[in-house]
Amino acid sequence: MSRELAELLFPNVDKTLEYYEEKFPERKFEKKSKITRLGPSPTGFIHLGNLYGALVDERMAHLSDGIMLLRIEDTDDKRRVEGSEELIINSLKFFGIEFDEGVSLDGEVGEYGPYRQSERKEIYQTAAKFLTEKGMAYPSFVSEEEMEAIRNQQEKEGVNTGYYGKWATDRDLSFETIKSNIEAGKPWTLRLRSSGDPEIAMKFIDGIRGEITVRQNNLDVVILKQNGIPTYHFAHVVDDHFMRITDVVRGEEWLSTLPIHLELFHVMGWRRPNYNHTAHLMKSEDGKKRKLSKRKDPELSLEYYMKDGYFPEAVTEYLMTLMNSNYEEWRMKNPEKSFKEFAFKTKNMSSSGALFDLNKLNDISKDVLIRLSVEEIMDFMLSWSEKFDKNANSLLNQYKDDLIKILSIGRDGKKPRKDLVNCTQIMQFISYYFDEDFEYVDKMPERVSNDDAKAILEQYLKTYNHSDSNEQWFEKVKIITDGNGFTSNNKEFKKNPEAYKGNITDVSTAIRVAVVGRQQSPDLWSIQQIMGEERVKNRIAEYLKQL
Ligand code: GLU
Repeated sequence: MSRELAELLFPNVDKTLEYYEEKFPERKFEKKSKITRLGPSPTGFIHLGNLYGALVDERMAHLSDGIMLLRIEDTDDKRRVEGSEELIINSLKFFGIEFDEGVSLDGEVGEYGPYRQSERKEIYQTAAKFLTEKGMAYPSFVSEEEMEAIRNQQEKEGVNTGYYGKWATDRDLSFETIKSNIEAGKPWTLRLRSSGDPEIAMKFIDGIRGEITVRQNNLDVVILKQNGIPTYHFAHVVDDHFMRITDVVRGEEWLSTLPIHLELFHVMGWRRPNYNHTAHLMKSEDGKKRKLSKRKDPELSLEYYMKDGYFPEAVTEYLMTLMNSNYEEWRMKNPEKSFKEFAFKTKNMSSSGALFDLNKLNDISKDVLIRLSVEEIMDFMLSWSEKFDKNANSLLNQYKDDLIKILSIGRDGKKPRKDLVNCTQIMQFISYYFDEDFEYVDKMPERVSNDDAKAILEQYLKTYNHSDSNEQWFEKVKIITDGNGFTSNNKEFKKNPEAYKGNITDVSTAIRVAVVGRQQSPDLWSIQQIMGEERVKNRIAEYLKQL
């Protein structure tokens, strides 16, 4: 009866599994090489978790001389959003992830396609027909309302919910009943005829979690929906088999349905891939850990980083530290190396939730930006601003050469300044340079009164000589300090603070506030040299007017 049933359900399927086995032969890679895939759904949203998973896929594949492919999991028509594929591909590319195979912006690449699940219906149906023929799948006519009634009853009885055992009444429908139902046009789904027993626990090795215990599945899960499109469970099994994927990297939310996937591989008679279930990205809030949420946490979206102008290298570097706890130590020993030289291992990944911390990302970003050249930083800022901040873009273009000098101040030497985090922050950081929108951000230091400020700035303006060396300039600041009741002798000031209004830091800070509008900045003399005599004098004069 199984053969007849298979013909009844799939009259138009004329291919066999052998056909696809031949069409998609084993790949000719070395044994050690891993073939990985990213299977995002085109929902119009790409998040840090996708990038995190993609980076694991990428590292696994390329460190083992394997490849990684992009498969679009678009079986859910309702969730599909126009433009998602471009968003996925472009965003990942921005962060340095490019696929060797699969869906690309110039069509599909590779011999194992199609790479969109919506175009693989025939393959799934062939696999479904095979299972039906083997007696391991059957059509089920239960409606959603009936399923709900079953669930209610199960909850009342306090047993596991789902379609299984005595609840799975369509398991035993006669061929005649099925036939007349189908002829009457009743919609049906195809279900797995499970033979598992949840009492039986099996040992399972997860690439990230190590040995775990998995109970057998006993649910007669839907494998084809009423429209003939497979569920995730069935689609990924068929795809990972025929795309000859060796290693699946996916979120831990799939662990609970892993028993289903193992049974499906088993009934298909296929070798399963290795599974690597990544931990959720967590956030610490009010002392509690919780999953990053699309609704509450804007920083979950990759767009957040692109808009703020995070450098992709910084985000990748941060994700590497999240991925392997020994990465930071390696980085300390190998400051100049590319992260690609790090021996990433899935078994060194945390299985209990990776704690995401924006402050930490910012710190890492500072370190990463110190390793980039100022020209690289400027190029990135230009391309960022072109897209996200037109005003910044015109300023950057107009003053590019000066800004490169501004950004270079204090970057060499043993202890380089680490001020730069992302483009938005850098624009703020260098905003003192622009006369456009210039603002006095900070006030005078506390120990400098209005009258003191006036005296200091007037004298500064009078004695200012743009061709003074840094040393000559500083000597003048000392003279101004000592001549106005402050002291340039710090030791003396410590010993006898009551004798002075303040020390040289107060005076130089007062000058700094007048010139760059803030109490802290890179070396002031260098800034003045770049800004030019006229602008420096104007700033001082302007400040004096306000006093
Ligand atoms: N489409 C699935 C998801 O977005 C992919 C899971 C997998 O990689 O198998 O979660």
